[in-house]
Amino acid sequence: MTTALTALHDSNKIPATLIPGDGIGPEIMDAVRLVLDALGAPFAWDVQQGGMAGIAAGGDPLPQATLDSIRRNGLALKGPLTTPVGGGYRSVNVRLREEFQLFANLRPAHTLVPGGRFENIDLVLVRENLEGLYVAFEHYIPFGDDPKAVGFSTGVNTRAGSERIVRYAFEHAVKLGRRKVTLVHKANVLKALTGVFLEAGRTVAVEYQGRIECDERIVDACAMQLVLNPWQFDVIVTTNLFGDILSDLIAGLVGGLGAAPGANIGENAAIFEAVHGSAPDIAGKGIANPTALLLAAGLMLDHAGLTDHARGLRKAIDAVLNQDKVRTGDLGGTASTTDYARAIVQRV
Ligand code: NAD
Repeated sequence: MTTALTALHDSNKIPATLIPGDGIGPEIMDAVRLVLDALGAPFAWDVQQGGMAGIAAGGDPLPQATLDSIRRNGLALKGPLTTPVGGGYRSVNVRLREEFQLFANLRPAHTLVPGGRFENIDLVLVRENLEGLYVAFEHYIPFGDDPKAVGFSTGVNTRAGSERIVRYAFEHAVKLGRRKVTLVHKANVLKALTGVFLEAGRTVAVEYQGRIECDERIVDACAMQLVLNPWQFDVIVTTNLFGDILSDLIAGLVGGLGAAPGANIGENAAIFEAVHGSAPDIAGKGIANPTALLLAAGLMLDHAGLTDHARGLRKAIDAVLNQDKVRTGDLGGTASTTDYARAIVQRV
């Protein structure tokens, strides 16, 4: 922290790690930097490698220098990273969450372009990021000549972890002036694993009574209701695996992954990224949509207290998509990544 504050004092800029990433990562990151520079966002970027570039440089998709930089700055904007299949590599994203104890995954979703199946969606999903079935305590039990006759997985939810994520969701609701938090669980069947989450959630909800409404849904019913009537929800908070699934469902309500940003938040570090991956099928073609990463940069601006910059960025994106009608191919337009970024620069 001292280093970060000193650097801020020295240059009047906020030091932040920037990882361009793999596939379309460098293209969309260039577009984001163009826009953030035009916006006058006061970040001093510390560019670091990850993913395939990290492997090429030293064999690790998450090099020590990158980890040191994030630890120093406490703030990072990350392009998508490829997790190589095979070769014994653990998911870089899971490693980052564990390393920096990024307990909250924030996935806001709002309609960017009208005319889809759902209009005026404005939801925030808060997912617990460190516990649940993602701890992956897994093993096989052999039977007869089948070494994998039975697969086992043990999930872990703690009361402390559950209270922390639900409190984060309520605080986020207060900060954003939202009205309701929905606790999503499966405590009717997974009575211990998600029962502890529900119980902790109810305890925290009491502290916010009169300020923020709270209700509950069983995860399967919630999935159906999100499709039938998504407008009934406001902020949703849930455990790791349910959050993973529901957040993609919610991204689908607002036009897919090209528009979905995410933030991974811990006590001492926060990493912002697009929800989508490195899109190898379109990499290098200059046609990728940088909106999700731009919106992730908007969340980063909010997190750093630069709310005017964040608002300006979101307004410019909206104007370009809906007034100028400059859009990339995935949104039905013909603009290249750079054309689209330049159009936003004109609007900031
Ligand atoms: P993907 O999200 O990369 O691509 C899915 C589809 O969406 C593709 O057809 C792609 O062209 C399209 N798409 C994605 N982003 C787009 C954008 N910005 N603009 C236009 N179209 C876009 O998912 P995948 O193909 O399953 O994964 C590819 C790689 O990305 C894998 O190695 C995976 O491990 C990695 N991945 C990384 C992250 C991350 O770093 N956060 C997340 C998901 C996947």
